[in-house]
Amino acid sequence: MVSAVELKNEAIQYPVFPDLRRDELRTLQVNLGYRCNQSCAHCHVNAGPNRKEMMEPAIIDLIPRVLLRHKLPCLDLTGGAPELHPRFRDLVSEVRKLDVEVIDRCNLTILSEPGQQDLAAFLADHQVTVVASLPCYQAENVDQQRGKGVFERSLFGLRQLNQLGYGQPDHSLVLNLVFNPQGAQLPPPQAELEAAYRKELDERYGIQFTSLFTLANMPIKRFADQLAFKGELNSYQHLLVASHNSENLSTVMCRSLLSVDWQGNLFDCDFNQQLRLQPKGQLLHLSDLLSSHFPMAGQSISVDSHCYGCTAGHGSSCGGALQSAD
Ligand code: SF4
Ligand code: SF4
Repeated sequence: MVSAVELKNEAIQYPVFPDLRRDELRTLQVNLGYRCNQSCAHCHVNAGPNRKEMMEPAIIDLIPRVLLRHKLPCLDLTGGAPELHPRFRDLVSEVRKLDVEVIDRCNLTILSEPGQQDLAAFLADHQVTVVASLPCYQAENVDQQRGKGVFERSLFGLRQLNQLGYGQPDHSLVLNLVFNPQGAQLPPPQAELEAAYRKELDERYGIQFTSLFTLANMPIKRFADQLAFKGELNSYQHLLVASHNSENLSTVMCRSLLSVDWQGNLFDCDFNQQLRLQPKGQLLHLSDLLSSHFPMAGQSISVDSHCYGCTAGHGSSCGGALQSAD
């Protein structure tokens, strides 16, 4: 049931986002740096080939220690293109030896970059879960959002992964695709779109995948600039607020995830990281987690108006929609 939040005063703009508190921590989501081989229009971290920010080795070394100390079951690697970090493969190998799930947020074109031709095989060998952005099954839409030629190179990457067993029904290697809308709309229902993707990608290209995640675009950074340029930023933010569904509050990703920036600073989620919205409490840096005790359960989460991007409609998170249907 959707409980719409009324906009009582256009000048005030947004009602205060409801109080959120942490559950048990499951996932450490680490941004290894902002360097990327793409410069997508919707990128909420403004990543690109000219970005220099990369995590220092001393901070990378903390990651397995923190996972081990707190028995966290999942490491989620993001960027930029996380695979461009020179320590990416060392880190993945070490963490997989701890029997921790590793998620690689992969842009697919990285799989055909010079020097990365064996990346897909490395990911398969280490049973890494691949989460890959593919905002449409039509070339024109993907290229418009992610750059000229990206769709063809994405298909190449997907075929490589499929050949290694990723996304195949009888195989354990997980290949999840990510959809986000082209513009200032909410994503359609995830199950319906997944069925369409499965049919179209199979019939047109013979490509298989495990699941489709639908994500709402966050009105921050490059996407916000794009909306502002088109005069759509306010109407999109109003749409998010008006579509707020309080049932999504119990499953938003910040309740079970901590986000780490390339300098080791902690945030409640990747979006707060980009907005430099600091977490409440004493845990501010990855190194603090070596000497601190969880549980963090019950701790208050830093929220602001952008959080409506997670609770609008069916909800949105790194793992896709928070609800399957109305
Ligand atoms: S591939 Fe991902 S990180 Fe790189 S520019 Fe595109 S959205 Fe940003
Ligand atoms: S933007 Fe971050 S803090 Fe806000 S609801 Fe979403 S995940 Fe939680």
